[in-house]
Amino acid sequence: MGDRAGEIRVALEAVRAACRACRAVQQRLAGAALEKADRSPVTVADFAAQAIICQRLGAAFPGDAVVGEEGSAALRGNGAAQALIAQVAAFAGAEAPGADAASVLDWIDRGGADGGSERYWALDPVDGTKGFLRGEQFAVALALVEAGEVVLGVLGCPSLPQDAGEGADSAAAGASALFSALRGGGARVHRLWDAADAAGRAIAVAQTGDPAQARFCESVEAAHSDQEEAARIAARLGIRRPPLRMDSQCKYAAVARGDAEIYLRMPTSSAYREKIWDHAAGALLVEEAGGRVTDARGRRLDFRQGRHLQQNHGVVATCGALHEQVLKAIC
Ligand code: AMP
Ligand code: MG
Repeated sequence: MGDRAGEIRVALEAVRAACRACRAVQQRLAGAALEKADRSPVTVADFAAQAIICQRLGAAFPGDAVVGEEGSAALRGNGAAQALIAQVAAFAGAEAPGADAASVLDWIDRGGADGGSERYWALDPVDGTKGFLRGEQFAVALALVEAGEVVLGVLGCPSLPQDAGEGADSAAAGASALFSALRGGGARVHRLWDAADAAGRAIAVAQTGDPAQARFCESVEAAHSDQEEAARIAARLGIRRPPLRMDSQCKYAAVARGDAEIYLRMPTSSAYREKIWDHAAGALLVEEAGGRVTDARGRRLDFRQGRHLQQNHGVVATCGALHEQVLKAIC
């Protein structure tokens, strides 16, 4: 077991720095995006955030593997590569002094580990890139996995209101929140832009045993989860409220602090395997806030299978009390 106090401190600082870079990119470059080989969008913010976090993890924990979503190949292979790399270096440099074209490529590629090792960090530098581009929700997600178990998770949510409640899905002006979870140590929310707020305050799921009173959340993107199937499951549970649609692991934060009771991620195809960096931090946050997380068949999420959740099918996160009822409604 590592030095948890040191690990959480480094993780909070790294995610805060990456969030500042994302905010700066959003303000200065607006909606500029390129397309990756899988046709998903990627921005200067994704690369700068991965560079910043990998640089800090490398300095603090030089022996640790990092499994990050991005790789420098997508940058190098672009027609405008030199100009893009210079932009990434400029935004990363505001948080990582000494950043230049060579060092940012090197830092980004520190995130190229395969996963499945005894100890590794899982990183999604900009989770919900489509939300980021729409000016809606996105998250910087970092988790530490040991022996297949997530032991620490941090989610930076620069557009999510700090406090729970209605309207929590809207990217309100001035909104921002930072979440942390330690296995066995609870779940917390911190002020994102206040580096002195290391302690934050505890958050907990909403204790709802009646599914008819529940609210469920799901992806904005219909390609990322089966919204029609989710609607059928919600109808079986007697849920009347409309779904809370948000990009990114902000959905896990919504369940963890009681904005919603259920997060349904029903697969759109039986071949799709969820990526570990899309779930590691958020899943621990919900569990430590008192909730439960399994796949759609009720199995634990297995973070020992490399870069994907090979053994799992979809994801269901709930406030806990409703979990079995939700699994039963998935037939
Ligand atoms: P969300 O913001 O919840 O829609 O999730 C965003 C994440 O969905 C991205 O980081 C992708 O890794 C992931 N993703 C991409 N394609 C799919 C798919 N077909 N099914 C589930 N997740 C996907
Ligand atoms: Mg993601």
